[in-house]
Amino acid sequence: MSTIFNKIIDKEIPVDIVYEDELCLAFKDIDPKAPVHILIIPKKEIPSMNDVSENDKELLGHLFVKASQIAKDLGISETGYRLVANTNKEGGQEVYHLHVHLLGGRQMTWPPG
Ligand code: 5GP
Repeated sequence: MSTIFNKIIDKEIPVDIVYEDELCLAFKDIDPKAPVHILIIPKKEIPSMNDVSENDKELLGHLFVKASQIAKDLGISETGYRLVANTNKEGGQEVYHLHVHLLGGRQMTWPPG
């Protein structure tokens, strides 16, 4: 099932893009939970972490390599940041197109709510 993130990938809905390549798109979350809150999404339509396969290894690695690069570019790599992939209802997932949240710019707490 197609989600709003497909419309974002297709540029039908405007977002503040911080990085894009042929495999992924990274943009500012519309409702930021931290001073830096970026969503890194694969262009491939994968609903959630429950749907990844061996074939997605390279793509998933790519998302994390780019998250690391974006954190450096945005100046939060030294202070620190958190990467999150909410999955299904109890994981708090709202949009069923796999995405990695990059959160930083403030002290995170543990455990998360
Ligand atoms: P989830 O709860 O599924 O892990 O996270 C979905 C995230 O997508 C939420 O943090 C929400 O604020 C963000 N989001 C939903 N719709 C839009 C949108 O149209 N534009 C942007 N930039 N972010 C969105």
